Amino acid sequence: MPSPLPVRTTCPYCGVGCGILAGRDADGAVSIAGDPDHPANQGRLCSKGSALADTLSLEERLLRPVVHGRETGWDEALSAVASGFAETMARHGPDSVAFYVSGQLQTEDYYVANKLMKGWFGTANIDTNSRLCMASSVAGHRRAFGSDTVPGCYEDLDETDLAVVTGSNLAWCHPVLFQRLLAARERRGTKIVVIDPRRTVTAEAADLHLPLAPGSDVALFNGLLAHLREAGAIEHGFVRDHTSGLEAALDCARRTTLAETVRITGLPERLLEEFFRLFAATPRTVTLYSQGVNQSSSGVDKVNAIINCHLLTGRIGKPGTGPFSLTGQPNAMGGREVGGLANALAAHTDIENPRHRALVRSFWDSPAIPQRPGLKAVDLFRAVGDGRIKAVWIMATNPVDSLPDADRVAAALRDCPLVVVSDMARDTDTTRHADILLPAAGWGEKDGTVTNSERRISRQRRFLDPPGETQPDWWIICQIARRMGFSGFDYDSPAEIFDEHCRLTAFLKDGARDLDLSGLAGLGAEGYDSLEPVQWPVTGRDRKESKRFFGSGGFFTGDRRARFAPVSHRPPASATGPDYPLLLNTGRIRDQWHSMTRTGKATRLMAHLAEPFIEIHPRDAARHGLPDVAIARVESSHGSALLQVTVTDAVRPGEAFAPIHWTDRFAARARIGALFPPHVDPISGQPESKATPVRVSPFVARWRGYGLTRERPSPDRDLYWAASPVEGGWQIEFAGTDRPENWEEEAARLLGLRIRPEDLLVFHDPTAGLYRLAAFEGDRLTAALFISAGPVAISRFWAIAQLAATFRPAMRLQAIAGQGGRAMPDKGPILCACLNVGVKEIAAALAGGAGTVEAIGAATRAGTGCGACRAEIRGMIDAYASQAAE
Ligand code: SF4
Repeated sequence: MPSPLPVRTTCPYCGVGCGILAGRDADGAVSIAGDPDHPANQGRLCSKGSALADTLSLEERLLRPVVHGRETGWDEALSAVASGFAETMARHGPDSVAFYVSGQLQTEDYYVANKLMKGWFGTANIDTNSRLCMASSVAGHRRAFGSDTVPGCYEDLDETDLAVVTGSNLAWCHPVLFQRLLAARERRGTKIVVIDPRRTVTAEAADLHLPLAPGSDVALFNGLLAHLREAGAIEHGFVRDHTSGLEAALDCARRTTLAETVRITGLPERLLEEFFRLFAATPRTVTLYSQGVNQSSSGVDKVNAIINCHLLTGRIGKPGTGPFSLTGQPNAMGGREVGGLANALAAHTDIENPRHRALVRSFWDSPAIPQRPGLKAVDLFRAVGDGRIKAVWIMATNPVDSLPDADRVAAALRDCPLVVVSDMARDTDTTRHADILLPAAGWGEKDGTVTNSERRISRQRRFLDPPGETQPDWWIICQIARRMGFSGFDYDSPAEIFDEHCRLTAFLKDGARDLDLSGLAGLGAEGYDSLEPVQWPVTGRDRKESKRFFGSGGFFTGDRRARFAPVSHRPPASATGPDYPLLLNTGRIRDQWHSMTRTGKATRLMAHLAEPFIEIHPRDAARHGLPDVAIARVESSHGSALLQVTVTDAVRPGEAFAPIHWTDRFAARARIGALFPPHVDPISGQPESKATPVRVSPFVARWRGYGLTRERPSPDRDLYWAASPVEGGWQIEFAGTDRPENWEEEAARLLGLRIRPEDLLVFHDPTAGLYRLAAFEGDRLTAALFISAGPVAISRFWAIAQLAATFRPAMRLQAIAGQGGRAMPDKGPILCACLNVGVKEIAAALAGGAGTVEAIGAATRAGTGCGACRAEIRGMIDAYASQAAE
């Protein structure tokens, strides 16, 4: 359905919720641009959003339902799911089934999944991967505000004088907000403080970086609270009129002396005092926090320690102020609105409140509402493992990679009698365990709404025909409900579901809840179609929006006062020791999203960091015999991984960092979730994924390899490998412990090829440990393999270009040359994904006198696309300048 005008839609990745203009030309090619009229991004996009068109291919899509490994039609698949769940519940009761859903779903999908589970199945066993992302913020909000309310909006970033960024690599994980913050600094001199154990790209751009010890945030913010009290930085009227519990919180905070705060946080007193003074002296302060705060066994206390400081200073709900939880996923907030968590109900009601249950039940006219919360994510999969849950439906997520103790999650699914997975991707580490696979329509192929971190509801609009037999998730869920004989699921469109959701918030409206969408009820199909991005609450016929909450109190507690929470420092649940001496932190990288089922299709996004890696401090690297680019065996008490080593002082001694994205589809053994013990916050149930004790040792490689193929390789071997798509094929890095007898046979196994000797070109120097092979079909290169005793020193940029080259017989030797010479100088690792500019090109521009980000951009074009790499370019400029000064 090509459209002459671009379709206004919303990015499907992070919680910034950027508006996108998606166009299609007559040939069907999709173009993507930032929507200048969307308030969240005002036209900006990051590298991931800019590359969305590259992720839309149908390769590796699940296009038809599959039942027990056999492709079939919807009728059989839907009947199998409906009867499977019905029989399980009839035999074992409602608590024997569960849904595990996702912040990738649209609000309408989420709404009907929650309604089916809680209203008709009669159990609250529905939880979401948002549990891994922001459950601690939800619980912290409820404890302080009486409701899960984000008080501020993105405009506060434009209007603040001090942005405290804690537990967030904003430059990589919410890049458009980071750009917005940098613009504010340019315009009004906003100071940026970054609190993070690592010296991230965000930290490098900060005015002040506090590299605190992992898990010590409560001690830090308690120290700040005590300082604010002593310094008199109190908004007395606000505290008096709108809060309670200050003295108990202060008592708790004062129990830790400044000297102890120094010891616990590992921060010098001078740095602490500088931060405390800056915070005390800056009325317009925003504290932005994300997974570094939430993913912790004390995540809720960390959230409340931050909120306490904002309540004391009255810096909440006013322009340029507030505690601000940044959601990781595009619709984590929408899921919260409809109650898609095991301990919530719908429209921000409380499942443990009998009146709320009665109201929701009467609105839904449903037979049941469970009286107690269901199982949260970690407990839910534990129950799958021990047989309490016998049927599970997983929607749009990959728990075999992302949950802690992930190997046990895989084993649990293997043994579960009924596993249903609805997804876009055919082959993920989770779909491999499915009895029934349901093909879901993806981004661009379905209509719905999502809500971003600032409570802004935006439309995701369809601009592509759903391929094969794919269907939107809401349709699939409603079809199952109807086959099970349940009423209340006869919607014809997502507009009808959205309307019901809005009417439910209006039905429940009693002034005791924040979520009010009454102004959006009754939009009709046309109104829904043309819905502009809007921030809730939206009340009344004139659709009055409110940007901020709580500027004049009005919290959603019984007495309308916010609660200070008395909180004390607790260290991470597991400590390092002689067996596991390093503490592993984890996070996202700039150009990847979750388990790479979409971003892993875009060659330009894979070019930035193509291998799973672990960052280790030089001191630890030397101690454990792990030089740069060596392969490390990383082991925890729960699992192991093989990761390439990056030696850097960006991590503190005794700590390490690894990204979360790699799966068995892209690497031999790099599923980071398999390393985490299943420790959770006692209130929120959110797992601790940033403090895992590990040990590292060299993977003793007797050879390293680099290969190119036309088809996706999947070497099923006990060796290290990491594959990534490139223009025209795939590249793959290898390391092996045993040298094979016959390299030709090994090449065939490694690259998944049938190699014909007459089409081969081989160079072998056994003494030097060198082996090179190129395989041809006609004048085209079909595969190449470069083996050496250590890391393979060839230009990856040159090698990838060979896949597009034509080789006359006399020129075939060039295919194993390894370098392109002056005609094709090596770019080095790609830094600017938009314009394919490598580190070596930027270094050359620096050496040539380009001393600013703009000058580098003029010389190389780096940083002139989405701008997400500008902070890294800045870092290179600073490093070059300090080297020059030495
Ligand atoms: Fe998408 Fe990037 Fe915007 Fe996040 S910041 S919504 S990933 S374009």
